[in-house]
Amino acid sequence: MLPAAAALAVLAASAAAHAVIPDASPTVVARAAESVPVHPASTNPAAIPLESITQAHTSDPAEPYTTFTAGTVPTAVPGAPPLPDLKTLNFFAAPYPPLDKVPPTDSPEVQQWIKDVASSGVQIPTFAPTAPGDCAGNPSLISDTSRCWWTCGHCTRDDDIVACPDKLTWGLTFDDGPGLTSMNLVNYLGQQDLKATFFIIGSRGISRPDMVQSEYILGHQIGIHTWSHPRLTNLKNEEIIAELGWTKRVLKEILGVTPNTFRPPYGDIDDRVRAIAKAMGLTPVMWTTTPDKTRTFDTQDFEVGDGSVSSFQVIANFDSILDMAPSLDTGFIMLEHDLFAQTVDLAVGYTIPDGLAHQPKLALKSVIDCMHQPLQNAYIETSGNNGGSGGGSGGNSTTAASSSKSKTSTGGKTGSTGAASQSGNNGLVHRPISIGGLVGVSVVTIFLARQMRR
Ligand SMILES: [Zn+2]
Repeated sequence: MLPAAAALAVLAASAAAHAVIPDASPTVVARAAESVPVHPASTNPAAIPLESITQAHTSDPAEPYTTFTAGTVPTAVPGAPPLPDLKTLNFFAAPYPPLDKVPPTDSPEVQQWIKDVASSGVQIPTFAPTAPGDCAGNPSLISDTSRCWWTCGHCTRDDDIVACPDKLTWGLTFDDGPGLTSMNLVNYLGQQDLKATFFIIGSRGISRPDMVQSEYILGHQIGIHTWSHPRLTNLKNEEIIAELGWTKRVLKEILGVTPNTFRPPYGDIDDRVRAIAKAMGLTPVMWTTTPDKTRTFDTQDFEVGDGSVSSFQVIANFDSILDMAPSLDTGFIMLEHDLFAQTVDLAVGYTIPDGLAHQPKLALKSVIDCMHQPLQNAYIETSGNNGGSGGGSGGNSTTAASSSKSKTSTGGKTGSTGAASQSGNNGLVHRPISIGGLVGVSVVTIFLARQMRR
């Protein structure tokens, strides 16, 4: 156990390195009035009252959490190497790029990744980047469906993961972390014996690498959410490669393995971004859109932080999403966040307990689990391992990027895409993720004392 003073020093350094990144997903979910009664089926008895989860509510006490020492064997990911030693890595020195900025493209690392993409055999579409902003900033593209731009029409391709294939199955995804209170969420997930998928921003990962390691060792799925959280379609090819490449690189340094899924910030993806990601071994994981494309499964929890949405509206959105679930032919993937205290409080206090109490009953799973894949298939180095041996590389195949066909339909097929994209996965049979092997692992628990501002 670390002395409290040392733990606080770690936290202070981490907080100093942390910069707030604006994040808001394209808003298409109807915004319920605060007067609409909200009746979650279940609320965590320890939940912070909804009326207290406001823009001004930015600081919760960070709970104690478990960290893992270098050399810990990731038993949840068969074949993965022991956990790297963070003390030997300095993420704030060269060659790592600055936090929260699109990395330069003239570095030797990025130049090599550019060559790798060029030699991958994946054809990269030649159309120009979108103008800054979303659909409104690109009026000429509103009716142009050729590039399958999700932001402007919610187009998806067969290789995109857009839903859990099984009905009444909720793929839990949390973006933008790790944040100061991310581990409160991880602790709650552990209490409920649940696993989730965390899409990590590279700049946040290097600020709190011990949290990323904990999420990974505890059996949660780690995915990529870019280095600095830009709209990827706004970027040049080389910049997209730099954003994805550096995040792959730093997560490999932190975990010892490289995630093979990514979530585009704001859902901003088109065929050019898809092709570059595919060339880099990454499969996009979106959040679900209704078959008529009019609503996305976005709780809008992030917007509580900027004051544009109230916590009551988030829960109303959430309840509305759950109301739609039984009518889908598939399960669904919902967008939530763990960067800010408000989003963690909403998940721990309301959305997850409500989902657990929902009737008809829902299965809450990480995306890799809901896709009927073992956790090792979530990482490039271990994908395809059968779990029977340690240390095998498993080649560099990816979980879901193996299906190369790309339909030109702009309609997308909520749900069917997920199942279709499993075709290259060696027929591995789903089995529960084991975390029982943690016995004997050296565990350090850090107590993070923080003052509450509210
Ligand atoms: Zn994000």
